[in-house]
Amino acid sequence: MAIFNKMISSLVPFFPKILTYQFAKKYVAGTTKETALKAIKKLNESGYLVTLDILGEHTKDRDVAADITAQYVELYREIDSRSLSCNISLKPTHIGSEISTDTYNENLQKIITISEDTNNFVRIDMESSKHTDFTINSFLEQRKNNLQIGPVFQAYLYRTYDDVTALDPENLNFRLCKGIYKESDDVCINDRLKINENYLKILRYAFEKNIFVGIATHDTTLLESIYALIDELHVSSDSFEFQVLYGVPMHGWNQKNLDNGYKVRVYVPFGEDWYKYSIRRLKENPDIAGYIIKNLFSRNT
Ligand SMILES: Cc1cc2nc3c(=O)[nH]c(=O)nc-3n(C[C@H](O)[C@H](O)[C@H](O)COP(=O)(O)OP(=O)(O)OC[C@H]3O[C@@H](n4cnc5c(N)ncnc54)[C@H](O)[C@@H]3O)c2cc1C
Repeated sequence: MAIFNKMISSLVPFFPKILTYQFAKKYVAGTTKETALKAIKKLNESGYLVTLDILGEHTKDRDVAADITAQYVELYREIDSRSLSCNISLKPTHIGSEISTDTYNENLQKIITISEDTNNFVRIDMESSKHTDFTINSFLEQRKNNLQIGPVFQAYLYRTYDDVTALDPENLNFRLCKGIYKESDDVCINDRLKINENYLKILRYAFEKNIFVGIATHDTTLLESIYALIDELHVSSDSFEFQVLYGVPMHGWNQKNLDNGYKVRVYVPFGEDWYKYSIRRLKENPDIAGYIIKNLFSRNT
């Protein structure tokens, strides 16, 4: 299956764009602010919280980074004026971390300011391991002045447990995911079961320290273990939320979580960069190619 997925992923860039969009549109809330805001409203009406992401990363141009920042600022205003339950997730490289630290800090500060003004929250997505130190250090700097900001940790990195336990747990709010980027064996656990074990170890620590966690996974086996942990430690439903990606089929699990009184936040990406994003995701993780094929075949059934 892995070889098949690799083969398909190498062919996808040659598919007509329109065909790729048939796959991508399920996972992306359109290309404009309006399509995204509409999707958020619908999700809120069904009981879901949302985190919104403008697609894109690795911005090399200062003006483009400034433009993305301005779009995020505008989104916070729209979210506030439409009373939507939605925060923002952003990637450091999208708003200038690869241009310069100053550019990134300047842009992030604008986003933090509007987030504070509108009583909202900024989630800093975690990119590949070459950005981990920068992202954590910058988070630590920002946290001195603002608590409404939170990082993401990846359970597939060996370093993550140490990174998490090194932080002051007071008022900490992080998202825990497995990790999506292709990483080398010296930094990344390669065994799926061991990644889940590490995920649960980190989560147990967070629960014991009363750290708020965004539990980001679609893995139902892992979810079963998470429910057991919640029961074992009598964790209050105020201390965590489940998080899922827009469009990923959960076969009733999201509704079950809502019915159990748990919060569920949907990560909604949108924007003009959907194509580059989809292709890049495929290159980073050829296994996603399997989802494309599944989706193409199940579309009309
Ligand atoms: C809300 C959220 C935010 C995230 N933020 C980050 C981040 O900041 N940095 C980072 O490195 N990674 C991030 N990720 C991605 C994450 O690290 C995993 O790569 C991804 O969620 C797949 O892992 P899983 O836990 O769902 O388990 P898996 O075992 O990989 O998947 C479980 C099942 O979910 C389904 N599934 C999973 N992903 C998809 C998909 N894209 N399309 C269709 N079906 C799918 C499949 O049926 C699969 O069998 C995020 C994920 C979520 C849900």
